[in-house]
Amino acid sequence: MKKVVLLGAPGVGKGTQASGVAKSLGVNCMASGDLFRDHLSRETELGSKAKSYMSVGELVPDEITIGMVTQWLNKGEQTNGFVLDGFPRTIAQAKALDNVLIIGAGSLDRVIHIVVPVSELIERLSGRYICTKCQKPYHLVSSPPLIENQCDDCKAPIYQRDDDSSDAVKKRLEVYEEQTTPLVEYYLGAGLLTEVDGVGEIDDVRASIQEVLA
Ligand SMILES: [Zn+2]
Repeated sequence: MKKVVLLGAPGVGKGTQASGVAKSLGVNCMASGDLFRDHLSRETELGSKAKSYMSVGELVPDEITIGMVTQWLNKGEQTNGFVLDGFPRTIAQAKALDNVLIIGAGSLDRVIHIVVPVSELIERLSGRYICTKCQKPYHLVSSPPLIENQCDDCKAPIYQRDDDSSDAVKKRLEVYEEQTTPLVEYYLGAGLLTEVDGVGEIDDVRASIQEVLA
């Protein structure tokens, strides 16, 4: 199985898994954030349209995102397979993806939902700190600085971004859950969804995903 969508909340390690799985399948990985940045930096027609919404603080409409993904999928090399990370996010995007694939690369083989308990996600995400000077990232549990509150490299204090405070993290996870539940149901109904336990080492989680796709 080589036509794959990965779903998972912030903090489950989806980006890491998406690129690892794509590499082992020998296909390309499309991270929606990277695709956006690419269109913006190349100032494509779709990129400029997206920018006009972003610059006034509005959400980019589905049709623009769908346009970018459609272009990417219709490149010849994607007919062998692909891994999508961060798309689709809505039912409208999922239906658009189905339509693009019917006339192009062929329908999805599997949707993998990487699941990690909320309590662990809060611990993973709210432990993130960065250096005030050199921006080096730390994690209070998995990669703490040698001296408390101090960057190992430049000795400047480390701090937590507002986004990573536990209240902000809880809010982000709630928003994710609200957005994603309909999508999970959509793919369950289509018989495409498999849940994979995202707790544990990166390599072990990847092995579980590969087992599903074998
Ligand atoms: Zn530093």
